[in-house]
Amino acid sequence: NIYKADASRYDLMQYNRVGKSGLKFPAVSLGFWHNFGSKDNYDNMKQMCRTAFDLGITQFDLANNYGPVYGSAESNFGRLMEEDFRPYRDELVITTKAGYDMWDGPYGNWGSRKYLMASLDQSLKRMKLDYVDIFYHHRMDPDTPLEETMQALADIVRSGKALYAGVSNYNKEYTEKAVSILKELHCPFIVNQRRYSMFDRTIEEDGVKKYCKEAGVGIIAFSPLAQGMLTDKYLEGIPQDSRIARDNRFLHKSDLTEERLRQIAELNELAKQRGQTLAQMALSWVLKDDEVCSVLIGASKPSQIKENISIVEQTSFSEEELKMIEKICER
Ligand code: NDP
Repeated sequence: NIYKADASRYDLMQYNRVGKSGLKFPAVSLGFWHNFGSKDNYDNMKQMCRTAFDLGITQFDLANNYGPVYGSAESNFGRLMEEDFRPYRDELVITTKAGYDMWDGPYGNWGSRKYLMASLDQSLKRMKLDYVDIFYHHRMDPDTPLEETMQALADIVRSGKALYAGVSNYNKEYTEKAVSILKELHCPFIVNQRRYSMFDRTIEEDGVKKYCKEAGVGIIAFSPLAQGMLTDKYLEGIPQDSRIARDNRFLHKSDLTEERLRQIAELNELAKQRGQTLAQMALSWVLKDDEVCSVLIGASKPSQIKENISIVEQTSFSEEELKMIEKICER
């Protein structure tokens, strides 16, 4: 069964400029952190990617060590590339990263030139690509001079193995330095990928959200659903097919405190009044003031992608709704 992308795929989705660059991200992007590993169901991955692309999701976000096992999300993507997406390569933004633990020894982690160069070559092989659209340094490295890491990004872009450079999990101080170094190197540095949701306001508190806007660097928000907590799924217990029950690496039963569950229930009521599901409201909220150019969602089934995509029509909030959300979340 040969995949043919839906002819109406560009009808609904919105595309937002990434900082002051020439590139646009779909308002909703799909990440491969969970559910694309070696133990996950390949047909489900395929259905999710087809569903996403058919709905105008033109961005797939990966990293070297997504799995488990490390590298397997990229390998699975490589297979999807061969089987489905090769004809659509120029319609896709495909990203990967290096910065966390990837292979044994001193060269498979953090931010050295040695690590970044080798890692991207491995990633391209696994993904069966000649280049990625964005290559990210995945986290701040306090021990490697930032000049070295940034020079590696700039050289990677110059080599054609990535079109743009990005950073992830960089705070304001590091982002400012990255901007200044990469400007000198004439490297198109366009985006900082940070966690952001109604439940995690760090990028507001550390000033990076404001700074990125001023500097013309885009922000893409990961875990905008707080890994699934900002949905109605945990209100009646822990479903067998949920991340907490099935995975448990990064989201735990203990994250669902009584307080959290009360917040979720109250937000769920507010979402209903708006005529949205909680997942939809949570995503709308992240996109509401045009400071974040895309919500980077995860999904375990195609139906979630369909549900989440419909937010592009409804991202505005009344003052009163915003106040209620603040009141519910601050406790
Ligand atoms: P989300 O907060 O969007 O959580 C996704 C999970 O929520 C899904 O896997 C699913 O879990 C559940 N979900 C999604 N939609 C719905 C829905 N409509 N109704 C009910 N449940 C839903 O994002 P992730 O935490 O998965 O992160 C998304 C992406 O961000 C990653 O894949 C990765 O690309 C990137 N990321 C980057 C990081 C970085 O350091 N740069 C760190 C973390 C993520 P389930 O059904 O299994 O319960």
